[in-house]
Amino acid sequence: MPTKRAVLSDFDGTITQTDVAEAILDEFAPATWREIEDLYRDRKIGTRESMVHQFALVHAREEELLRFVDRTAAVDETFRDFVTFCRSRGIILEIVSEGLDFYVRYLLRKWDIDVPVRTNHAIFEEGHVRIEYPWEDATCRLCGTCKLLRLFQLRALGYRTAYVGNGHSDLCPAIEADLVFAKDELANLCRTEEIDFIPFERFADVQRRLGASA
Ligand SMILES: [Mg+2]
Repeated sequence: MPTKRAVLSDFDGTITQTDVAEAILDEFAPATWREIEDLYRDRKIGTRESMVHQFALVHAREEELLRFVDRTAAVDETFRDFVTFCRSRGIILEIVSEGLDFYVRYLLRKWDIDVPVRTNHAIFEEGHVRIEYPWEDATCRLCGTCKLLRLFQLRALGYRTAYVGNGHSDLCPAIEADLVFAKDELANLCRTEEIDFIPFERFADVQRRLGASA
């Protein structure tokens, strides 16, 4: 029987060339958002807590943020080919993101990318952004979207899993995935935690590796 394969991918800085949430904070929040980010990177607080505090600093309307995102966010141009590749090989491909749905869905629509997404939900209220976590794991208070939960669900269904990511919120799934593609901070974390990984720059690299192991 052929192996059932699934790929889970991060969004910000992995499918996009730069981190969209960070770009929004740089543009629309006072510089103190970086202090909250440092607490997160030192693992003193989880994504959920850091996002709530960081986006509470953003006072802008959704349309304003989307105009900025539309102007500044760029996709890894090889991702579209990767979507086609996964489809043709019967490989499940899903996005698991600690970003916010309003820009993730906007960009996927703009780039004509049709892939299932789990991400956090932004609600624009009276000049500030409130965040809900439809994909949280009830047993963990740290993350918004639990990337690990989806990986475990796929594993329980008999899938061999590959994980593609670039940041701190990708560490949990990287510990458990059968195959890890990492760059930037995730690559550093994998080195520190002694997790085997394959370095990548673009999805063309991931595709080459997965194509070779078909
Ligand atoms: Mg990322």
